[in-house]
Amino acid sequence: TPTPDGGPRRRRLGVMGGTFDPIHHGHLVAASEVASAFQLDEVVFVPTGQPWQKSDRHVSSAEDRYLMTVIATAENPQFSVSRIDVDRDGPTYTVDTLRELRSLHPDAELFFITGADALAQIISWRSSEELFDLAHFIGCTRPGHTLSDTGLPVGGVSLVEVPALAISSTDCRMRVAKGEPIWYLVPDGVVRYIHKRALYASARP
Ligand code: ATP
Ligand code: MG
Repeated sequence: TPTPDGGPRRRRLGVMGGTFDPIHHGHLVAASEVASAFQLDEVVFVPTGQPWQKSDRHVSSAEDRYLMTVIATAENPQFSVSRIDVDRDGPTYTVDTLRELRSLHPDAELFFITGADALAQIISWRSSEELFDLAHFIGCTRPGHTLSDTGLPVGGVSLVEVPALAISSTDCRMRVAKGEPIWYLVPDGVVRYIHKRALYASARP
């Protein structure tokens, strides 16, 4: 589509980062809503790398989380999955992810999509000024997290109201551990993958 000045329209690329352990319909609805509201050409899902520091819980392997994300997004021509964080050693920092995507897509406009809970942490990131230069930040509503108490700089972030889906990966893991169903909370292929790989069988609160 040409711009008013006749130049080519810049490609608009959404970036959805997450642990995706597992990916669920809350993630997919948020990405779909933002893609529509901001006329994005594509949304790239970027599963985080494996935390190398001892974290407070067991995180599934990067490969399992990557594959679940591929399974969940495969049918949507607007969705893709990137291995950049999975293949980088060390902890994932959003600034590294965005720098790498910027160099891979020098002409694209980047839109970083994040939920209300994760948004609250953005402003405390040390390199937040560079972050706002690299991408637009889109905050999505999420049940249990209000946008008003994030203390965000006005104008730095756009907010999108997405249909409330009270789904979290934590709840999905707990359900699997207790033998409760996760059908319709995550895509069918992801349910089958979790059972095939026996993920979350011993997840503890
Ligand atoms: P966990 O319970 O393990 O923290 P999670 O459900 O929060 O998992 P993440 O992988 O941590 O999933 O989230 C990735 C991104 O998706 C974050 O920006 C998060 O805020 C957003 N997100 C997760 N669930 C929802 C939801 N139900 N609605 C809107 N945004 C969501
Ligand atoms: Mg989370």
